[in-house]
Amino acid sequence: MAGGGVVRNADGMAEPELVDVVVVGLGVGGEEVAGRLAEAGLSVVGVERDLVGGECPYWGCIPSKMMIRAANALAEARRVDGLAGSAQVRADWAPVAKRIREEATDTWNDRAAVDRFTGKGGRFLRGSGRLDGPGRVRVGDQVFQARRGIVLGTGTRPSIPPIEGLAGTPYWTNHQAIEVAELPATLLIIGGGAIGLELAQVFARFGVGVTVLEASGRVLALEEPESSEVAAAALRADGVEIATEVKIERVGHDDDTFTVYAAGDRSFSAEKLLVVTGRRAHLDELGLDTVGVDATQRYLPVDDRMHVTDGIWAVGDVTGEGAFTHIAMYQASIVVADVLDRARRAEGGPDASGTASVVGGAMGAASAVGGSMGAAGPSGAAGTVPRADYRALPRVTFTDPEVGAVGLTERQARERGINVQVGFTELSSSTRGWIHGGEPGGFIKVIADADQGVLIGATSVGPAGGEVLSALVVAVHAAVPVSQLRHMIYAYPTFHRAIQSALNDLS
Ligand SMILES: Cc1cc2nc3c(=O)[nH]c(=O)nc-3n(C[C@H](O)[C@H](O)[C@H](O)COP(=O)(O)OP(=O)(O)OC[C@H]3O[C@@H](n4cnc5c(N)ncnc54)[C@H](O)[C@@H]3O)c2cc1C
Repeated sequence: MAGGGVVRNADGMAEPELVDVVVVGLGVGGEEVAGRLAEAGLSVVGVERDLVGGECPYWGCIPSKMMIRAANALAEARRVDGLAGSAQVRADWAPVAKRIREEATDTWNDRAAVDRFTGKGGRFLRGSGRLDGPGRVRVGDQVFQARRGIVLGTGTRPSIPPIEGLAGTPYWTNHQAIEVAELPATLLIIGGGAIGLELAQVFARFGVGVTVLEASGRVLALEEPESSEVAAAALRADGVEIATEVKIERVGHDDDTFTVYAAGDRSFSAEKLLVVTGRRAHLDELGLDTVGVDATQRYLPVDDRMHVTDGIWAVGDVTGEGAFTHIAMYQASIVVADVLDRARRAEGGPDASGTASVVGGAMGAASAVGGSMGAAGPSGAAGTVPRADYRALPRVTFTDPEVGAVGLTERQARERGINVQVGFTELSSSTRGWIHGGEPGGFIKVIADADQGVLIGATSVGPAGGEVLSALVVAVHAAVPVSQLRHMIYAYPTFHRAIQSALNDLS
């Protein structure tokens, strides 16, 4: 797995080794970029200090959604009473922990991911990468000179608020919450955002006494207020206690109890404490000063082709454009297209026949470059590299009901001075919502730009809220006129048919 020996000059200093691309951080975004560039024939060094794949497969999306799948099965079984007879449900965490350990994470081992990357021709280095001047990356003793570029996909880590008494206690982050093999009896969660709510509902459905502490006036504070209401009601129905406007002053911990003390003489106690108050990029570790980039920023600003500065690209959470795997993948495809486009032009310009001089030094690689980009969509030819466009950024909180949203919320649209129209419908007033029953509730809300006659945002909350969202994402992404959306045929009786009612309510 190591990346080869260090070449030293007469003074014993490590000589930079010339490669095409160095990718620092092989999370979702970095792994995608590194693998595709290697497949295209470039010499790529991928540097990862922890696990190849990053947060999503080991401590994020995948294991958390496995937990949710299991918790939803329990909830659905509990709905049999009154609907289809009676069911006795006995929750057991063991199969969930086993599935996460064995199927999702290979006991938190990335050998398959490393093999996948090296199988594509990439060279893997385990370690921490750091910029070391223009075009250079240092990993321990080794220094690489990247002639095509450097890609930073270093992600984020949990942002832990500086609460008195918290540091030094065995509080959980998402890592311990995902790795837990035996559930505690009670759990406090600081943070009522998407991750906090998803995990709160899972643990509550498995019998844990969960309390969510949220500093602002509502959970899911970045989404529509109606989403917050439905999500809070659903979690309360599962037995979760939700406390808002909690101004935490200090945390106490003894052998088996955490106590959170808040303003107004409020206090909350539980066996475990999970802190999910957002994520933070650690730019200070990347040697950005050696290339003239300000490392004191919260995120690494990028342009619409993910350039940080000359010869350096960034992908994923570190860019601050949205902490989602689909953003990292979307950005990765742009970086791949851009790096290959520049490489091809540096080698004498695009050649559709594949006979141009070659990226990475082999004739076969040139056609591989064109071929792989063709499969991905953008051709990669000069001038056709796509530019990032986040207008239709979708996001889903996988609570039950799911909270899906795309584009602007009503408030964001009004703050931008847009001539806003809002349409709203309760899912229960649609045939499918009524058939499904009152639980767990939901709605569709659409936000239109009245001057343009198009949707600029939408929210879909319901049993399949994240799936119903896809139609709304297309509408916002492609700026489909509202008049056309109103006159589409919506299958009966689907949840997505409620979109038409919301559109008809636009006023
Ligand atoms: C509990 C949870 C649930 C989530 N659920 C979803 C979901 O359902 N859907 C969704 O879209 N997103 C979800 N996310 C978010 C998603 O996991 C992230 O958006 C995604 O992992 C970002 O990918 P990335 O490549 O930017 O960074 P990361 O996955 O964070 O990977 C960055 C990698 O860089 C490495 N690294 C950092 N610095 C260096 C260095 N100097 N040298 C070498 N390596 C370095 C790190 O070790 C890490 O492996 C969830 C996150 C969490 C925590």
